[in-house]
Amino acid sequence: MKRDVKEILFSKEDIEQRIKIVGNQINIDYKGKFPLFVCILRGAFMFLADLSKEIKIDMSIHFMAISSYGGNTESTGQVKILKDLDTPINDRHVLIIEDIVDSGLTMDAVTRLLKTRNPKSIKICTLLDKEERRKIPIKVDYYGFKIPNKFVIGYGLDYKEKYRNLPFIGVLKEKIYN
Ligand code: 5GP
Repeated sequence: MKRDVKEILFSKEDIEQRIKIVGNQINIDYKGKFPLFVCILRGAFMFLADLSKEIKIDMSIHFMAISSYGGNTESTGQVKILKDLDTPINDRHVLIIEDIVDSGLTMDAVTRLLKTRNPKSIKICTLLDKEERRKIPIKVDYYGFKIPNKFVIGYGLDYKEKYRNLPFIGVLKEKIYN
């Protein structure tokens, strides 16, 4: 598995350190607000698990599953909801936990949908932000790392279902998908 990795962008330790900082900020901003974390499956599961351990305030966790890639490295632009939330979010402070914001299409679709359900507020927390690839402007409220336009895997992120279990974030060798 590791031999398919061209370069390691962020080690387990880099990620841990950064998540502590992001978690602290969320603790401050959401104090007394009982936020509802909406984890976007499957890519964000590892990020959610580590981030939630840094959260020291009351919060709840729910899941949504979205598909936008269809097994390739380029977004199809078609965002499909595979699993919707099973709880109402009206009058809740919603914080979306995402693995990576790339074109912005997924987050645009998800935030539009959730806004129709009248949450008190809705914000985005993403582990990775590929800002230069944006097709739609999306306001990222919290991020772990900004990354260049490279296809990354590990720490929850996959390529054709593989590599999610890697403890670091790495760039996949081009020969794997070319
Ligand atoms: P967007 O809709 O912003 O273009 O894409 C967001 C989704 O595409 C992410 O949730 C993630 O599943 C996938 N994605 C975007 N860039 C990458 C990448 O570099 N690596 C992997 N594994 N998935 C990506």
